[in-house]
Amino acid sequence: MNLKMIGILTAIFTMLLAPFSVCFLGDGQAEAKSDSLDKSRLEDKAIEVYINATGEKKELDIEDYVCCVLLAEVPESFDEEATKAIAVAVRTYTCRRLESDEKYTKHFSAHMCDDYTHCLGFMTYEEAVSRWGEKLAKSSYDKIKKCVDETKGEILYYNGNVIDAVFHASSAGYTEDAKNVWGYDIPYLVSVETPEKYGESRVTLKGSELREILEKQGVSCNFEQAEEKWAESVEKDKRGRVKSICIGGTTLTGRRVREIFHLESTVFDLKYEDGLFIFDVKGHGHGVGLSQYGCQQLALDGKSYKEMLSLYYTGAELGLY
Ligand SMILES: [Zn+2]
Repeated sequence: MNLKMIGILTAIFTMLLAPFSVCFLGDGQAEAKSDSLDKSRLEDKAIEVYINATGEKKELDIEDYVCCVLLAEVPESFDEEATKAIAVAVRTYTCRRLESDEKYTKHFSAHMCDDYTHCLGFMTYEEAVSRWGEKLAKSSYDKIKKCVDETKGEILYYNGNVIDAVFHASSAGYTEDAKNVWGYDIPYLVSVETPEKYGESRVTLKGSELREILEKQGVSCNFEQAEEKWAESVEKDKRGRVKSICIGGTTLTGRRVREIFHLESTVFDLKYEDGLFIFDVKGHGHGVGLSQYGCQQLALDGKSYKEMLSLYYTGAELGLY
């Protein structure tokens, strides 16, 4: 998911897409109320997708589009409930994009493109067959299609507006407050405890490499001290995300350090050992909103997709587009 795009929350949303009916997630009555969502009046919704490799603009039904995103974004091993939760998040994210006045010049005003670093990942069934072979592609697609069909039309609202349903791969213990990533509060994107076993990764750099990368990024540092003193004063929040770190006398935010050194997340330790700077990183992604691997763990624990959405999007309500 694209970090630049998902930070944009300033578009004004109309009430034109108000749900036919809305249910509160997570309380005891949620199941009964959401089952009463009347889908008989659901209308088709089309979306334009720009294919970067060919320059082609494809028009797709939004439900077919969600299938293509899930083929690209959801591991084949994922449980159905986790896949359904991600389907609702992707559909919501896409509906919000449809409502936005923003012109996406990078893809000639198409609503979305197929570059996961800019919008969302995208893979057609034919592409899946050529990559994975027909057997795996078919079993993946069949499961995804079932999950998309069973959640057809369902999206999330907060105070009557379609939410910014951002998601990420995994967090280390807690998701992140939107404010700590984008600088402003979003009431339904607040830190919550998340159960997944997060991935760990490591980035190792010689002093000369660290210095070169910082200089290329235009960060002015003072490297006159001995190397082992270049990085100091690491400040973390109570959940282990790096708030700031001082490198060569210049204080950088954890987020900026993540960008500069291409770290998987802002949950990291930095140490200097045997002439090397070593970043040990936990989790993958910006940490805001729904955690995909968190959903998978919750599914294994017997939770429903509605409970997952309720956890990761605090106070959001399930409705129809
Ligand atoms: Zn894009």
